[in-house]
Amino acid sequence: MPEARAPVTAYVALGANLGDAEAAARQALADLARLPGTRVTATSRLYRSAPVEAAGPDFINAVAELSTVLTAPDLLRALQGLERAAGRQRPYRHAPRTLDLDLLLYGAARIDSPRLTVPHPRMWGRAFVLRPLAEIAPARVPAEAQAGVAGQAIELL
Ligand code: ATP
Ligand code: CA
Ligand code: CA
Repeated sequence: MPEARAPVTAYVALGANLGDAEAAARQALADLARLPGTRVTATSRLYRSAPVEAAGPDFINAVAELSTVLTAPDLLRALQGLERAAGRQRPYRHAPRTLDLDLLLYGAARIDSPRLTVPHPRMWGRAFVLRPLAEIAPARVPAEAQAGVAGQAIELL
């Protein structure tokens, strides 16, 4: 018998700004709880932020804490499956999206492969990631990072 993998605590950022973005975020939180070998152990409240590197409607943002036995690549594949199911298309970089699921942290792992970089390399400069992450995992957000994004507008829904 293969040895059972110990569960890893992972954090996933949700973002949506096309269609009914709030419904898409709530649906994604429900869908995450149904991934194989995975439990949702905490979810932030929903936030609203203006698009940063693009035009388009405001984003709905949230972060979920997972306990999962999926490997990081398998978890990324599962997240991409949920994006596809939500109708995600990628016409151009930073295009408006029905659902974006980014793997922020996977335990203490550092991963640098062509398809997956963890911690997510751009998370530390984004209030729309750090604010909901700090709500459920303050120890994972250094004070300097929080201070660095203090000027970025984001509000609770
Ligand atoms: P950003 O990564 O700046 O937030 P984005 O979310 O709009 O931009 P996507 O088009 O969703 O970018 O993803 C582009 C690629 O990023 C994906 O195909 C995926 O392989 C890769 N990727 C690398 N690291 C991660 C990660 N930690 N979480 C999600 N995708 C990642
Ligand atoms: Ca993203
Ligand atoms: Ca993404």
